[in-house]
Amino acid sequence: MSVAVDTAWQKKGFDSLTSHTFFMSTDKSARQKKVVKAIVGHRLCGVCSWWRRNKPGQKVRPHRCVRNHTGSARAMEATSGVKGVKELSEQGTPVEYLEGDGDNTLISKLKSDLNVTMKKRFDNNHVVKNFTKSLYKLKSEKGMKISKATITHLEKCLKYAFSKNKGDATGMEENLKGIVPHQFGDHSLCQARFCGYKRNPTEKYIHRSLPYKTSLHDDSLRERLQDLFKPYTTHAHQYIDLGSSQQCEHANKEVTLRAPKSHHYGNSCSLDYRVHATAAFVNEGRHYISEIAVYPVLVQVIVSFYMPDVQALNEVTKSWVSLRECIQ
Ligand SMILES: [Zn+2]
Ligand SMILES: [Zn+2]
Repeated sequence: MSVAVDTAWQKKGFDSLTSHTFFMSTDKSARQKKVVKAIVGHRLCGVCSWWRRNKPGQKVRPHRCVRNHTGSARAMEATSGVKGVKELSEQGTPVEYLEGDGDNTLISKLKSDLNVTMKKRFDNNHVVKNFTKSLYKLKSEKGMKISKATITHLEKCLKYAFSKNKGDATGMEENLKGIVPHQFGDHSLCQARFCGYKRNPTEKYIHRSLPYKTSLHDDSLRERLQDLFKPYTTHAHQYIDLGSSQQCEHANKEVTLRAPKSHHYGNSCSLDYRVHATAAFVNEGRHYISEIAVYPVLVQVIVSFYMPDVQALNEVTKSWVSLRECIQ
């Protein structure tokens, strides 16, 4: 089975206390991709920290501890990934292909921890995102003159090459090799299918998306861009069958609706419930809530029918008092 893996953090940035990882099936024939596993990672437990803060030195009362990770937030991604792959294979669905951001930490951790060699499949969004990031890094370097419009254009070219050469390794290599020289007015490596100049050499070719509508000139920039493109051209065959993490992004977006980034749910199981509810929603649609809700509502109706209001209130107060005693 081939799965797409994506980890998201509950707070912005990389140093977060909680994360969740979704494993989604990437069966091409299926209309909708489904969540096959959801793992929530906690670096802190609310109850444990309360006891440490208010009753230092005392034994922590028994509770359902959610803390399941020690170490950095970055490592949490790989740990959750390994945990998910392990659980999936134990449940009878071994994973063969991993789609993700091309990050090798998880693959190497799988090899060292479980002795499993996983095949990697690049994912369109992450490849393009990483490429753009490296272009902006180039822009920030001293003496490099590359405008935002050029970066957007190069990004578009890369996306175009990926989508037009699906399943064609030589076509992909040719196309990727032609991109940089084309921007500098050198069309020797271009082909008519992606170059307007080749299609009509007699007319003056206008670079519509580049600044001042002319080709680029800076030789040092050309060299640097060529270096940037090198890994893509040499491993062109890796990009002919790219996965899409769109479904994962969708699931992550849904989580932020149930566990907003401005609120902190990560101290308790609350976050786990919210993440798993999202998984149920992605897989089953909105009906999941009515199916789950039937039972508690039934209980509530029976209780309110047999229990007069005063007694119900007493019950609630009693449980509240015992809860407070429990904490103190
Ligand atoms: Zn705890
Ligand atoms: Zn050209």
